[in-house]
Amino acid sequence: MTLEPGLYVTATPIGNLKDITFRAVETLKAADLILCEDTRQTAKLCAAYAIKTPRAPYHDHNAGQARPAILDKLQAGATICLVSDAGTPLISDPGYKLVRDVRDAGISVITLPGPSAPMAALSIAGAPTDRFLFAGFPPSKAVARQAFFEALADITATLVFFETAPRLAESLKAMADSLGDRKALMARELTKLHEETREGRLSTLADDLSIKPVKGEIVLIVHPPDQPPAATDEDIDIFLRTALQTMSVKEAATAAAAALGSPRRDVYQRALALKAMP
Ligand code: SAM
Repeated sequence: MTLEPGLYVTATPIGNLKDITFRAVETLKAADLILCEDTRQTAKLCAAYAIKTPRAPYHDHNAGQARPAILDKLQAGATICLVSDAGTPLISDPGYKLVRDVRDAGISVITLPGPSAPMAALSIAGAPTDRFLFAGFPPSKAVARQAFFEALADITATLVFFETAPRLAESLKAMADSLGDRKALMARELTKLHEETREGRLSTLADDLSIKPVKGEIVLIVHPPDQPPAATDEDIDIFLRTALQTMSVKEAATAAAAALGSPRRDVYQRALALKAMP
């Protein structure tokens, strides 16, 4: 297999070693070099698929130093794969500055998509997925964590977090306080032997997990804020009758629509009808 020169950002399994694409295996075999977050971790994957390509470390501690030589190799026409320990590189993993520099140098960056823990959890959570926000790891210190959750409280989207097992119950409790007691799903050790999901309200999960703590790698999915129940015709009439004592039909309809979240046109028609009643 001949590869175009460039940087191949290659997703690898998040647990089960079978979760890798044919294209990723072929590309890892054919590349000149594999840049690894931890070469020992990637060695296991390479052993499983008989990948003999040379490996070199690229992680948070050597990235600044290693980048110039990597760019030189790419400029000279090398094909280089970037992998992280698990899942998709750059997603809370090293690689962002390398990709930025490679792009700035006008060299191709090619994605080899595949597993990613936040996407895997999102796909099984049963939370709305038309709009979601990946927020990564919450801060570990209580004050910073509270500010972090409060800043997310008004976002009407599903929220996706990473969390460590020892901080899980505490974090869920803080979320319940700052975000409201929303529905949530805890996904742990996905695709691995001890794979488990638990769902419930944030406060219930927090209590449950403080009594029965878990180990392993965790993604938390938090549903968007609960929608207020739709106002009934009776709710609208009660609001309008009171409002019409002091307001015009137009003002009463505007106030009712804003307060009850009902369509203004419908509320206006109802206000007109109530006003006309003897
Ligand atoms: N880049 C990776 C990806 O795309 O999945 C994520 C890297 S991030 C540093 C590692 C975090 O992802 C873990 O601490 C955990 O929160 C989550 N994670 C990784 N593997 C997981 C798994 N099998 N099940 C649940 N969460 C996992």
